[in-house]
Formats: sequence, structure tokens, C-alpha cells
Amino acid sequence: MDLPSDRDASGRSFGPEELARVAAVLASGSLTATAGAQTPELEADFAALLGVRHVVACSSGTAAVHAAIAAVDPDPGDEIITTSITDMGAIAPILYQGAIPVFADVEPTTGNVTAATVEAALSDRTKAIIVTHLFGLPAEVDAITALADARGIAVIEDCAQAYLAERGGRKVGTFGAVNAFSLQQGKHITTGEGGLVAGDDDHFARRARLFVNKGWPYGESGPDHEFLAINSRISELQAAVANAQLEKLAAGVAQRIAMADRLTEQLADVPGIETPPVPAGDRHVYWKYCLRVDPEVIPGGPPAIADELKLGGIASAPRYIQKPAFRCAVIRDQVTFGSSHWPFDLARPEALDYDESRFPGTFDMLDRVLVLPFNERYEEQHVDHLAKAIRASVESVAGGRP
Ligand SMILES: *Cc1c(COP(=O)(O)O)cnc(C)c1O
Repeated sequence: MDLPSDRDASGRSFGPEELARVAAVLASGSLTATAGAQTPELEADFAALLGVRHVVACSSGTAAVHAAIAAVDPDPGDEIITTSITDMGAIAPILYQGAIPVFADVEPTTGNVTAATVEAALSDRTKAIIVTHLFGLPAEVDAITALADARGIAVIEDCAQAYLAERGGRKVGTFGAVNAFSLQQGKHITTGEGGLVAGDDDHFARRARLFVNKGWPYGESGPDHEFLAINSRISELQAAVANAQLEKLAAGVAQRIAMADRLTEQLADVPGIETPPVPAGDRHVYWKYCLRVDPEVIPGGPPAIADELKLGGIASAPRYIQKPAFRCAVIRDQVTFGSSHWPFDLARPEALDYDESRFPGTFDMLDRVLVLPFNERYEEQHVDHLAKAIRASVESVAGGRP
């Protein structure tokens, strides 16, 4: 059986709705967001869906994170706390804006930063905290926001993997002052590439809007290029697809949750495997479905299971990312602007201490996680096939041990 894949039509949800909107944009002749109707509609509808005052559409999730950081406007050498288990697109913008990424450790069972790990990473130079809701499971963003508010530090939520996830009954993307979503090919909804910045803060939202528009305040009187900024606008063609996708988001998320719950039930008694923990009151939206594999019970751990699954044509990902961000060349070797190492040369030495002993949760998480393929087109037969394959793989690797 072939599982639906988010790399092609089998695992994505495109139809006549997207086509009709794209055709209408082409017929209008206005393909730029500065002149069209699709982008304002997307921004208004996503703001209403989340329940926030402002949304700014842009060209990618990376651009959304970048605009959020530019909105907060760090001074060179200011610190931004984040996670090392994330997409590099969530970290590179910190450096482009002259700030220092300071990595908080994560909870090994979820891969998320916690209030405690964030608190341990605070310094008098902390300007902002990026809270990533990894795989669609909300981080402790309520506690982290409380901690940040008390110190006048901005919170930026990275919701690229967490559309409609909820912490304590409240949607993620409404806790932070300025928050980022991605519309990239593999996310819950997609335009191929695209992003959204969302939040209630008037000042940050205006800065984010200007940042994706070369610093130019469209529609205001006496405009000027107010500060250093780039063009990372979305196009009307992408916004058209995003509008159609947005109408399918709630159903897609509901299907992901229903199928994930079914998978969790079927894997409950498999030895050596932990299914995703979901605290009461929280809503996990399963961008991916991850297992935690105990190598004491299953010799070889996640890679051994992945090899077995591959024999049956199922592509899973041990480690999710090969290594924490601070082990990647760009950060490890400070490969930034010419030979300057800027802005790393401005950092406190402790902020650049990436010794393994400081990240026990991070390394434990990467060693034990197995990311299964997953999307909103999974149906019962796919989940049942996947569960059966996992059970068989565990039995095969563990050599029939109970
Ligand atoms: C995908 C992703 C990004 C980057 O989004 P792009 O649209 O690929 O630029 C940032 N953060 C996280 C957590 C992501 O999953």
C-alpha cells in the first residue's frame, strides 16, 4: 500500500477551489499583493480564524520569522532565545538581524523548550524568546509568556507546524506578541512557499508589514522608506491558493487528529515505543506523528525500526534533523558575512557555549525520536497499515522479545 505523500497530490488537498481563485487572479491581471484582493482577504480571514488583530502575509515561513524579529528590532548583539531542534529558517533571520541565537534545552519527550529551560537561558541581553510548537504539540507558551512579560521580553511563537493547536484551550499564535506561520509545501496548508505573521501588537504588526515591503508604508500619508527592509511579499497567485486552503484547514486538522488518535490506540501496547504525550486541555495537531523509541528494549533504536519500515516501503525519519542547529556549519563555524563572523563576535562567551552537557534533553530527544510520515489525507486503512508495519518492525528488531 502506498501512503499519501505531502510531496504530491496524494497527500495534499488541492481542487477546483484553488483553481477557480487562481484563474480569477490571472483574469484580473493583478498578480501583486499591493494591488490585488486575495492577499487582503487572506490576512483578514486568518486574523478572524485565530482571533488576532493583525496578519501580514509574506513569501515564506522564514520570511515570517524574519519579519517578526525585525518587528521586535534587536540591537546588534542582543540575544534571542530559541530551540536548536527546528528548521534553519527559524534561526537564520536572528543572525540577519544582528542578534545572537541562544539555545534553550528541550524536553526530551516533546522536543519543545519549557519555561525552565528558557529561564536558564535568560540574560540581561535577552530581547525576545522564540517558542516553537514542534510537530504540532504546543509548548508551555503560557508559562513562558508569563516569564517574558515580567521582564519586558517579547515572545515570538513559531507556529509553522502548529496551525489550530491549542494550549489550555487557547490557540497558539495568540500568546506571543508577533507570531509566524509557514505555507510551505509540507505544512498543514500550503501555497508551495508562503508565510503569515500574526499578532495583536499594533506596533510590531506595523513593523512586520513594513519589513516585507522594503520599509514602505503602503496606504499611509507622507510615506518614506522608514528603515532597512527587504521585499518578502506573497504574490496574489499564492494568496489565492492560500485562501482556498484556509477553508480546508479545520477539516484537515480534524482528520489528522482523528487518525493520530487511532494510531496511538493501535500502538499503545507495543513494547519499547512511546506515543506522543498530549497534556489535558491541549490540542496536538500532528504536523508529524512521532514515536519515542527506547533502545534498551529495541536494539538499534529508531534507525533499526526505520530500516525495517523502509523494507516495507515506508519512509520514516530517525532524529528528525540530523543534528542540533548549533552543530551546523553556519553556527558552529560562524559562517555569516564575509570573514567577519558578525554578529557572533558581539556575543557573550557563555551564549556560544554549545557543550553537549548543556543540552541533555536535546540529544536524548534526537537519539530516540522516529518521525513517521503523516498528512491530512491519511484514512483508516493507511493508519492500520502503518500500525501493523510498526508492530512487525518492532517484533523483528527486538527478536520476539515481549
Ligand atoms: C517550515 C518551518 C519554518 C520555515 O518555513 P519555510 O516556509 O520553509 O521558510 C520555520 N520554522 C519551523 C518550525 C518550520 O517547520
